Amino acid sequence: MAAVVSDYLPHQNPCAQCGKPIATPVWFEDEPRRTWYLWQCAHCGYQFEAVAFFAEINGEPSVIAA
Ligand SMILES: [Zn+2]
Repeated sequence: MAAVVSDYLPHQNPCAQCGKPIATPVWFEDEPRRTWYLWQCAHCGYQFEAVAFFAEINGEPSVIAA
């Protein structure tokens, strides 16, 4: 089964400090069911992280050894 494919990047996230839109995150890291984004404002230089949570797809059945 394929891992969660995250080819969607958020765009135009407002800067947490000055509110200017930031075109794209400068860095991101995928984790199971969530993705961390690092934003850097070109206007004021402020950096902040944001995390996106994704719903489970069809759930993930627990593997129970019998
Ligand atoms: Zn800013």
